[in-house]
Amino acid sequence: MALKLFNYLSRKKETFKPLEGKSVGLYTCGPTVYDFAHIGNFRAYMTSDILKRHLKYSGYKIRHAMNITDVDDKTIKNSQKEKVPLKKFCEKYTGAFLGDLTTLNIEPADVFPKATEHIEEMVEIIKKLVKKGFAYPTDDGVYFKISKFKNYGKLSKVNLTGRKAGTRVNTDEYDKENIHDFALWKFWTPEDGEVFWETEIGKGRPGWHIECSAMSMKNIGEKLDIHTGGIDLVFPHHENEIAQSEATTGKKFVKYWIYNEHVLVDDKKMSKSLGNFYTLKDIQARNFNPLSYRYLVLNTHYRSRLNFTWEGLKSAKEALKNLQKAVSKQYINPLARSPKKERSFEKKFKEAMDDDLNTPQALSVVWSMIKNPEITHSSIVALALEFDKVLGLGLKTGPPIPPEVKEMALKREKFREEGNWAEADLIRSKMEKTGWSVEDTSQGPALRCE
Ligand code: AMP
Ligand code: ZN
Repeated sequence: MALKLFNYLSRKKETFKPLEGKSVGLYTCGPTVYDFAHIGNFRAYMTSDILKRHLKYSGYKIRHAMNITDVDDKTIKNSQKEKVPLKKFCEKYTGAFLGDLTTLNIEPADVFPKATEHIEEMVEIIKKLVKKGFAYPTDDGVYFKISKFKNYGKLSKVNLTGRKAGTRVNTDEYDKENIHDFALWKFWTPEDGEVFWETEIGKGRPGWHIECSAMSMKNIGEKLDIHTGGIDLVFPHHENEIAQSEATTGKKFVKYWIYNEHVLVDDKKMSKSLGNFYTLKDIQARNFNPLSYRYLVLNTHYRSRLNFTWEGLKSAKEALKNLQKAVSKQYINPLARSPKKERSFEKKFKEAMDDDLNTPQALSVVWSMIKNPEITHSSIVALALEFDKVLGLGLKTGPPIPPEVKEMALKREKFREEGNWAEADLIRSKMEKTGWSVEDTSQGPALRCE
């Protein structure tokens, strides 16, 4: 079965076919580094991670760029509040963000381009847009003229009728009721303080949307196979990215648009503005392994909303612990069984992931494999580790059983066969003192190093 992905552009599941051969150019809208990212944000990065891991598992070669927005309305405002220069302010949150990616087993992108390092490229694009008549200067900036771009609205399907032509919006974020020509470049005002660039198009700074057009073009190319982000980025951010990029190059910007749904709290989107958010630190402060959150996220399809509760996280934590236990235990008398079944689990896992990254289904395949008595434990472990290349749950095998522990286990078995429970229990407690626990299963005793 071929990989199918839900392409938001067509609102349909489509068979994935890269623009060229087996290589995939992937762009993910990264964080705006004005604060610590919250766990809702990390659902977006986990979604691109799962997509990337599955593509790799399926034999594709990926070039992945995830940008860092280190200049926009919010970063400038917050750095001024903290009285720290913008660069230093953003570096702090960029560092924290990259650390959190590692904590969540999110593989780093090949490049993390920064907006402030692509000003020249942005200016070049804006100059081209002005020359082609898609952009025009005013007294406070350079704006994109959306009436000139015939396909405006193709992604978000916003309704342009009734819109007053030529009205403008200077802020980076606005809603569908406010469809306006938007700022590509904002001329310096005293509120921007020390944040400005002296360029051919004037002294000022970029708008948020142009940043991603410039960084994707520079770091991947004029055409992308896949662009990902959270569903709130469809409008205006990605609609504007399409307009800027396609007006500049004359080529179709992105083949597949992939969006994750939101993480909610009490049925409201988790967000900074509502104040209903948690960071990874909050999760760790309550003694949760952050990978429990990864499990929680994977257990819901990326296109479904996920209502975050501490109860839900607790169940995810238990499930992950049991999964980890199942993989790290070892049998002292492994049984030989047929490999026929193993292949069927491999097939089912791939089918689940190929079906628009159905991770809840993939997890259930893992569980049914673990519980299946017809395959050997060593095969279960080998397959679970293989599947974990896609899931990224950090599954690990246990350390080798030390000979003296194995000897104790064998002795205990003998006592048990003889019905000498007292001696058997004595050995069990001796074993536990060395850090090894024993569980009696239908396949014989299984040992685990706690
Ligand atoms: P921002 O730093 O605000 O640009 O957001 C970073 C990423 O997180 C974007 O892809 C957003 O769409 C995504 N995002 C924001 N809030 C949530 C949420 N509650 N659940 C899932 N994704 C979100
Ligand atoms: Zn972006």
